[in-house]
Amino acid sequence: MHINRDKTERYIRGLVLHDFSELPTTELNEIEMHLDACDTCADVFHEEYRALQTLLRWNIRFDNALVIRDRIRRGIEAALVVCPDARRKQRLQRWLSALPAIPKALLKVCLLVPKTGRRLISQITLADADAAPAFAGAFRYEMIPETARGSPQSKLLPNLTKVMIQDSTELKTISLQEATGELTVEIEDYGQEEPEYCLLVPIEGQSEASVQTEGYSRTGGRFRYTFKGLPPGEYLLLFEPDAIPSPTSEVES
Ligand SMILES: [Zn+2]
Repeated sequence: MHINRDKTERYIRGLVLHDFSELPTTELNEIEMHLDACDTCADVFHEEYRALQTLLRWNIRFDNALVIRDRIRRGIEAALVVCPDARRKQRLQRWLSALPAIPKALLKVCLLVPKTGRRLISQITLADADAAPAFAGAFRYEMIPETARGSPQSKLLPNLTKVMIQDSTELKTISLQEATGELTVEIEDYGQEEPEYCLLVPIEGQSEASVQTEGYSRTGGRFRYTFKGLPPGEYLLLFEPDAIPSPTSEVES
C-alpha cells in the first residue's frame, strides 16, 4: 500500500512550512519508513515538494515588490554598462529613474515549470491584474482549434504560449517556443523611430535580467525582438513605460 493522497499533502505541507503538527507522530514515522523503502512514493513526494516550493517561492517573491524592483534595476544597470549608444543610455537611465513605481506592463512567462506532480507547464500570463492595470482587459490568448477527444468536432482553445496585449497605443504579440526556449516579442510599427525596450527578468537563479535594446528587426509592419535559448524557469517580461517622469523626480539610486 502506497501513501495516500491526503497523507502526502499533509506531509509535504509540513516539510515546506517546517511544521508537522498536522500529523500525529505515529503517522509521521509510518510515512518516513515507507519513503525509505518505496522509490515510487519517494519520487511522488519529491515532485510534489518541488512544485509546492516553486509556487510558494513565487508568491513570496512576487509579493515582495522590492525584490522585483531590485532585479529590474540590476537588469537595466547591467544593460547600461554594455550600451554603446548615448541616446539609448539616456532612455535606460530614464527608465531606471522611473523604477520606484511598479511597472504597469508586467507579464509572467513560465517555461517548462513544474506545476502539479510531474507536469511541466509553459505559459504566459498577466503577472498580476492589480500590478498591471494597463493590460487588464487588453490581454488575450490566441485561440486555436483543437479536436475534442473522441469526437471529430473541434473547439477553440486558448494557446497559453501566445498572447496579444493592447495598451493605449500599440498591439504587442508575445509568443514562447517551448522546444527551443525562444521568446519573441512583436510590436506594431506605426512609424515610431524605435520600439519600446523590453526587459526579461528571471525570478529564480543567478542569471541577470536582460534588456533587449537592439537587434530588433523591422519587417512586415512589426518590430521583432527575440530572446533565444532561455533556460527553463519563471520570468517577468516588462516594457519601457510610455510616460517616463523627468529625471528631476528621481529618488534614491
Ligand atoms: Zn509507496
